[in-house]
Formats: sequence, structure tokens, C-alpha cells
Amino acid sequence: MTDPTGGDQTSGLVLALDIGGTKLTGALVGPDGSPGPRRTTATPAAGPGGGDEVFAALRTVLDGLLADADGAPLLGVGIGSAGPVDTVTGTVSPVNIPAWRGFPLVARVAAHVPDVPVTLAVDGICFAVGEHWRGAGRDTRSMLGMVVSTGVGGGLILDGRLHTGHTGNAGHVGHSIVDFDGPECTCGSRGCVEVLASGPNLVRWARGQGWRPDGSPATGRELAADATAGDPLALAAFDRSGRAVAAAITSVAATCELDRVVIGGGLAKTGPLLLDPVRAALARYARLPFLSTVRVEVSALGDDAGLIGAAALITRPDRYPTTL
Ligand SMILES: [Zn+2]
Repeated sequence: MTDPTGGDQTSGLVLALDIGGTKLTGALVGPDGSPGPRRTTATPAAGPGGGDEVFAALRTVLDGLLADADGAPLLGVGIGSAGPVDTVTGTVSPVNIPAWRGFPLVARVAAHVPDVPVTLAVDGICFAVGEHWRGAGRDTRSMLGMVVSTGVGGGLILDGRLHTGHTGNAGHVGHSIVDFDGPECTCGSRGCVEVLASGPNLVRWARGQGWRPDGSPATGRELAADATAGDPLALAAFDRSGRAVAAAITSVAATCELDRVVIGGGLAKTGPLLLDPVRAALARYARLPFLSTVRVEVSALGDDAGLIGAAALITRPDRYPTTL
């Protein structure tokens, strides 16, 4: 008889965390992946040496959720964190949280929430896992999840299982190179998809081309509004971003034989502004028969994808194993 839950846990709650440079969010997630009560606080702007200050903020999120759980059985704590992470040591060094460098996040959370498993993955991987478990990548065999936002990250599901690499950073597609003579990237390399396709880099490129020379507000929001209104420079910026994303997708698909790509993050929320150029460029780049069948979809879970993916690390370690 087929297991109607597909192997999922059927009772208990997961405490899922999504740790970013702007905010620290947590939720209690049911065994079927449905997010329940959540708590959020701003990430303290602490500098080097301020690790305890940031953890104290996270502790308020943990304590709030433990109170919300009201004694219900806890299956574990799944953590999605901005990267890089090291899942061998359970430490994190998020680029945009300078107070945490080699911070022993797993040990600190485990000390605060004892007697349950605590696991960790980089946020792009949690996005990919969430979409594969309960979102736009359900039932696919090999999937790339790609987050296009302030940066570009991602995660890989290969042959139905999460592929993390030995320190938990595999699938970080943002630093695959799509223009080997391209502009310098913050990682020290050149022509990474992130330096061509991320929101801030899109705005920077458009400004360099003469978009909004009067000095009026020029963020990603204005760029999207101008592109929707037909501004040719704003449209060109989204086209450039879309081509970079499509080039990265083609390279990963050629290496891994993907059947699905799910794109999320702030830029994906613009829908066709990003997706139309991605799909048009993919039709030109992905020519071999096994590449031309790759489908690109927008995130079905939106801002919840990372939390749901972090929960799946606890509920489905058979499909989504980490090295912790
Ligand atoms: Zn890079």
C-alpha cells in the first residue's frame, strides 16, 4: 500500500528559522509543510565581536515560538542561513552579518532547544528544498532552485535527493561565471551571474547607461515600474539580467540534466519582466534535445519557501540530507 504522506512525518512541529542580514524569522511548521505561527525581529547591526548581540535577538524568536508551541511535541530545529555556512562544523559566516564569523550557530541553538535534532543549510538550499517538497518543483527528478534578489543563490536536487556538497554550499549558482571577461564580482572573480543579474547590479548597470539621470529615486522598485511602463533602458536591464540567468541555467542543465528550474527572490516577484527574457534566452541557449525540455517556473511558495525547506531538513532527511 502506498504511504499517503509520501514518507512525511505525521505529527509534531518543526521550529524553522530563516536567518538573513535584514531580519531573523522563525515559524512553527506542521509535518505536512504548512507554516503556522511566526516570529520576526530585525537583525541587529552589530559589528565584529557582536555575535552574542545577534544571537540574543534570535533567542527572542526561539523563545516566542517555543511559547507558541505550547508544549506540542517538537520534531527538531531546521535552520536556513545566509551564507557561507559550514555544515561540517555547524558554523555560519553570513556576508551580510559581520558579527558572525565562524559563529557556532548549531551548537548555540542546540543548547537553547535541547533534546531535539538541529540542522543547518544555506538559505538558497532551503529555498530549493521548499519548492521541491511543496512548491513549483514537486515531483521533479532534478531541479535547480535559484534565488534572484540582492544576491543570487540557489540549491540543487539531483535524482530526487538534495545535493549539498561536503560543506553545504553546493548549488550556489550565483557565482557561476557567465561572462569570463565580465565585471568584477564581490567574490573576487569576474562575470558571475550575481554581478550581472542581482537587483542592485541591475540598477547600477541601468544608471551607468543613463537611466534616471535627474537623480530621482532609482531602486529596483523604480526600475521595475519603469520597465512595466515601457522605458527602453529599464527593459534592457531586465533583458540583460534574464540572459545572465538563462546562461547559468543552461550551464547547470548541461552538467546535471535538469528537468525543472524554480526562480524566487525579489526579482522573480516582477513575474514576466524577468521570466520572459529568461525563457526567450533559454530558447536560444539550450539547444540540445535534453536541454530544450527544461521548464522554468516562478516560486509557488514565495517568502515561505525558505522556512518550509528548513522544516523539510527535519521531516524528510531521507530526501534532503545535510552533512550535520
Ligand atoms: Zn562571484
